[in-house]
Amino acid sequence: MPDPLPRIGLGWDRHGVTAGRPCILGGIEIPNEVGPLGHSDADVLLHALTDAVLGAAGLEDLGSLFPDDDPQWKGAASTRFLEEAMRLLAERDLIVASADMVLICDTPKLRPHRAAIRENLARLLQVEVDRVNLKGKTTEGGCSGSITAKAVVLLVDAS
Ligand code: MG
Repeated sequence: MPDPLPRIGLGWDRHGVTAGRPCILGGIEIPNEVGPLGHSDADVLLHALTDAVLGAAGLEDLGSLFPDDDPQWKGAASTRFLEEAMRLLAERDLIVASADMVLICDTPKLRPHRAAIRENLARLLQVEVDRVNLKGKTTEGGCSGSITAKAVVLLVDAS
């Protein structure tokens, strides 16, 4: 019998940025002068979202499942982390009901890329686009040198 109670998960991540790194957010490469630093492709938005998915499912967090000192994840596309989290969800008969995110950075500007990112995240989360939302916030210099992402995800039992 399906569990009628939904499960909520919260994710948060922040990466410093530097020149000469690609700026990949939500699995979409965005032209920008700087990009996030990291062991993987440093997709801060996917890291927050994957942690929210894992948290809602009661699983270990991103850093435990994909340690940043493990050479197999060096330069890895963070879409692989979310795909693995979705596989773990499917094993538990859990599906995503909705997700909402905030990306906090002064650069790049999110608006021109928001639709493409939402579409990509909806594909990865296996839901319709209107169940995935993403907001951009700027801080007037308050977060120069970093990009921060926050995500909440609601899961339901599909058994
Ligand atoms: Mg990260």
